[in-house]
Amino acid sequence: MNIFEMAKIPMNQAIAAMQLDPGAAAVIAVPERTLEVSIPVKMDDGSTRVFTGYRSQHSTVLGPAKGGVRYHQNVSIDEVKTLGFWMTCKCAVAGLPYGGAKGGIIVDPATLSARELEALTRAYITKIAPLIGEKKDIPAPDMNTNGQIMGWMMDEYSKITGQFEPGFITGKALCLGGSLGRTAATGRGVVVAALEALKLKGIAPDQATAAVQGFGNVGSWTAKMFVENNVKVVAVSDVKGAIYCAEGLNLAAVEAYQKETGSVVGCQGTKTITNAELLALEVTVLAPCAMELQLTKDNADAVRAQIIAEGANGPTTPDADAVFDAKGIFVVPDILANGGGVTVSYFEWVQNLYRYFWTEAEVIEKQTVMMQKAFHEVHEASVKYQVNMRVAAYIVALGRLAEAMKIRGIC
Ligand code: GLU
Repeated sequence: MNIFEMAKIPMNQAIAAMQLDPGAAAVIAVPERTLEVSIPVKMDDGSTRVFTGYRSQHSTVLGPAKGGVRYHQNVSIDEVKTLGFWMTCKCAVAGLPYGGAKGGIIVDPATLSARELEALTRAYITKIAPLIGEKKDIPAPDMNTNGQIMGWMMDEYSKITGQFEPGFITGKALCLGGSLGRTAATGRGVVVAALEALKLKGIAPDQATAAVQGFGNVGSWTAKMFVENNVKVVAVSDVKGAIYCAEGLNLAAVEAYQKETGSVVGCQGTKTITNAELLALEVTVLAPCAMELQLTKDNADAVRAQIIAEGANGPTTPDADAVFDAKGIFVVPDILANGGGVTVSYFEWVQNLYRYFWTEAEVIEKQTVMMQKAFHEVHEASVKYQVNMRVAAYIVALGRLAEAMKIRGIC
């Protein structure tokens, strides 16, 4: 099934449960606009290669479109449309004054030199420039993009408009107007959400264990934030495999080992297990923080966690959700659990508009309060409509979008 159609299954359950106006449902079912660009890049060997990129703006109903740019060999137009749709819902659940968007380039960035990567990044921004801007569409990091890439994007866009443009992009380095706390924000948010779920279940953090799939920006910070909150992290993974330690992993050692060797696998004092074994561990919290479509009908039955906190976008298929509902596993869905990144992106944008910067403690405090509020609003909807947390999150998001559409006269 097409990923966008699959992503709409829980949304359609929400539409039915809340009896959403069909006009509003029809507007949300499609992105407002999607741009496909071809990006010629002069390679180091003198040849020219043409890359394909996209920017899909799903919605600008609640504010300017917002969302990251992903560099990956499997990027497709359907994937960016789906990720843009999730951004709209994520921003609405978090209560941010934003719509949703996502961009991507079909490329494995590990195959490019730093100069080629910079040239590709700058050319991409030139190609999507008509759509983006501080009040139109604000990019950010996503898979395989980081503060350095945001810096090149900001520089290129500032050249195009002829003005200093920090507010057009988030996830920047601090010296360019980035926010303190942004790098850790998605992981921190996953843990804030997981801690609220533990509280609901009456489990103290120091009695809980966690397994984290993925050890990139989201996964590594999620693991570190679990430990900071006294939750024992027993397993983490990357594309090469997973590592396990029943007494709790020494994350500083794992990070140092990953930096040195390029993988977490083989780190001293850990047992190597498969990614499938990690997903099936008997832990309190499983945090899939890698990528979409990881928990499916084929492996859902093996999951033994009590809580799933989704750091990745779209890690669980609707089939797997049905299995988790039947097994009584409490799923904190992506559009709630991983909203910490875009929440601190919003703070960064606000600080850029004001040219006035907050302390890290202020950022963390504001993020925590906003995410706890969102968690409880979704949980209340889940109780009121007798639906799981994912459908409830869509109910909250769609309710906000539909209200704004009505007042704007869209439907
Ligand atoms: N790429 C992140 C996400 O999927 C962050 C987006 C943003 O900060 O705009 O939520």
